[in-house]
Amino acid sequence: MTTTMPSRAAIDRAEPLDFPDRRPKAEPLTITVHAVVAGFATELCFTGSIDQLPALAARLVALGATPTSKPATHTAPLNGSKPKAERVTPAYDGDGQPICPTHKKALKEGKWGLYCSAKDRDTDEYCRLKFAE
Ligand SMILES: [Zn+2]
Repeated sequence: MTTTMPSRAAIDRAEPLDFPDRRPKAEPLTITVHAVVAGFATELCFTGSIDQLPALAARLVALGATPTSKPATHTAPLNGSKPKAERVTPAYDGDGQPICPTHKKALKEGKWGLYCSAKDRDTDEYCRLKFAE
């Protein structure tokens, strides 16, 4: 058994698992595992029984692989680029404080800028207006 390198072949042959001589009824599954091995994002195709997955995972960990967590693109945009919402100009009360033109409520400074914390009585949702500053 070659275990010197976390090569794909080595991983495929991970642990001499207890294969019964007679083949299982079910077709072996081909499982694609995404893992990072030594900093490289790799895609490993594994054919076998689903029951072997824990052993496979353990083997990958033993080889120093880490699971990839999809660095998704749904993370919040940086630098306060605005979310999809139209911006309206706030109204101002007598003290020059910006207020929501709909709810006449003093605006608060939030992550995305000014917002109105009023709740709509009908929909029970918070005010969705975004305000230009
Ligand atoms: Zn409002």
